[in-house]
Order: sequence, then C-alpha cells, then structure tokens
Amino acid sequence: MDIPRIFNITESAHRIHNPFTPEKFATLGAALRLQSGARVLDLGSGSGEMLCTWARDHGITGTGVDMSRLFSEQAKLRAQELGVADRVKFIHGDAAGYVSDKKVDVAACVGATWIGGGVAGTIELLARSLRPGGIILIGEPYWRQLPPTEDIARGCLAKSISDYLMLPELLASFGLLGYDVVEMVLADQDGWDRYEAAKWLTMRRWLAANPDDELANEVRAQLTSEPGRYAAYTREFLGWGVFALMPR
Ligand code: SAH
Repeated sequence: MDIPRIFNITESAHRIHNPFTPEKFATLGAALRLQSGARVLDLGSGSGEMLCTWARDHGITGTGVDMSRLFSEQAKLRAQELGVADRVKFIHGDAAGYVSDKKVDVAACVGATWIGGGVAGTIELLARSLRPGGIILIGEPYWRQLPPTEDIARGCLAKSISDYLMLPELLASFGLLGYDVVEMVLADQDGWDRYEAAKWLTMRRWLAANPDDELANEVRAQLTSEPGRYAAYTREFLGWGVFALMPR
C-alpha cells in the first residue's frame, strides 16, 4: 500500500508536505496552549514534523497514520533524531476510518481531508477519536482571490472553482457543521514557495540520478512547467491554513 509514486519522488526531501514552515507549526503549537502529556492524533502525518517538534517543544505524545511508506519511515527517523521516539508513534497505513483506542486531546488532519471524503467527513472521523473539550485541527486550502475563470482554478490544480471557498466562507462552513473556530494559523506565499519550489531541486536531482526511470518524462515535464504554473496560479490565488475547532 502506498500513495502514487510521483509524490514520493517530488516530496522526498520535504519535512513538511504543505505550505506551512517550521515557524508556522511552532506558532500553531503555542497557539493551542498544548499541555505536557497531551495526546495528539494526526491522520496523514506525512514525515511527522508536526508531531515530532510538538513532542520536543511541548511534551505531547502522539500517533500519526500515513499511507506513504517513505514518509512514514522518514517520520520515525525524525523522531529518533529529535529524541522523541518514545513519545510519538507512526503507523504506515490508510487513515480512512482510523479511530484511536484512547480519546485524544487534539485530533488533526493537516492537508489530507480527502481521507474522510472532504472537510465535513474528516471532521466527523476525527470527532470519533476526540475527548470532550478536545480540539480538532483541519489544514485546508481556500481562495485568497476568487479565480475569475474555471481555467484559472484548473491552473491552481483544482477541478473547479467550487473545490474551495473564500476564507470567510470556509470559516462560516465550520459553524454550519456545528463547530466554533477557536484558533487559526494561515500560510503565506513564502511558505508556498518552500513547499512548491523545494520540489524543483528535488526533481532536478532525481532526474540526473534516474534518467531511464519510467517516470522520467513526467518529472521532466513537471520540472519544465511547474515554476511558471505555480507563479501564475497557485501562488496568487490559493491560500492555506490550519483551523482549530471545538464542537458547539
Ligand atoms: N500532514 C502532513 C502531510 C500532508 S500531505 C504535513 O503537514 O506535512 C498529505 C499526506 O497524506 C501525505 O503524507 C500522504 O502520504 C498522506 N495520505 C494520502 N492519502 C492517505 C490515506 N488514505 N491515509 C493516510 N495518509 C494518506
């Protein structure tokens, strides 16, 4: 079981697989006022940077579930590197339907809400692991600027304009699902650059090392087109943030 190989190639050198920077995760950890010993569940935990750094900085304990074998391995190595391997556990597997045995203080899905079939379904899934009074974290894109045409939405790699909301509407949508938004930390364009531009050097080096790979043509095409596409569309039109929610 794994995610499509192209992501394991283009994001192999990423510690954070979304437009957040280490500083943004630190800001979020502080904003949540995490207590030592707090339990955190992270569905789609990637290379584990959020759980590992929060274990180091706030003494949380955590479980991450991720379908990428490579990212799950990297998460375990990162936990050892930061000296928190006894506090965080990483499970390689499909997080769809994953509910923790013991209720958690924070239940998160940061940039992988397809796991629950969208934002609403993912909130429902996370709520099943949450203790009363706990916090749900959702990392999700929104439109910084509404794309004037469907072509521009597709330039942002969305299927259509209706894939995402503007920030006020996204915040209101959490209310309609019965949740208070109690905190948020938003990514910025510099963070988008770290996520997207970091793929280019990774792709360039991967191509040099793997010229005959079956994905070489696809990676070459992406490396050629991505900087221009990203600068014209995603960087201008797409926002991203992590939203902290508590049931009303
Ligand atoms: N939250 C992480 C990773 C976000 S990228 C971070 O902030 O860095 C999305 C992640 O979802 C990837 O790591 C991918 O491997 C994982 N993923 C995709 N489908 C999944 C599934 N069905 N179950 C678990 N993880 C999944």
